[in-house]
Amino acid sequence: MKSGKQRREEIKTKRLARLRAAHAPNPYMPIKTVPLGAVAVDPTQLTHNNTYGLLPSLYIDTPFVCKDCGAHEIWTAKQQKWWYEIAKGRIDTRAARCRPCRLVERARVEEARHVSQAGMALKIEMKKNNDESRRPNHN
Ligand SMILES: [Zn+2]
Repeated sequence: MKSGKQRREEIKTKRLARLRAAHAPNPYMPIKTVPLGAVAVDPTQLTHNNTYGLLPSLYIDTPFVCKDCGAHEIWTAKQQKWWYEIAKGRIDTRAARCRPCRLVERARVEEARHVSQAGMALKIEMKKNNDESRRPNHN
């Protein structure tokens, strides 16, 4: 019978062999090719992503369906690089709308913001007037 120490040594050796086999290059695997139009990621521009998750190494043209009009669009690698690295978009965000729908959505949000701000201004004005009328008169 083997001692515990011998058994542990055996397990360790097998585990190491398994690890080496997993990391050895597989001659039957096709050589990974970089897809056409792929753009390299600049990891120094992705530090705003506070994540333990893996960051991509390439941007690849990605098809998507516009959530508003259902148009089939391509989110290009170049657009992704701009979005994630220049505009500092979060790495888990994806393209959702085609360009025309994006412009419509932007106008809608802008309009809603104006309405909201006008409402807030009115509310503040009314509260101010109300407070003044409630102030005790010592004359
Ligand atoms: Zn659309």
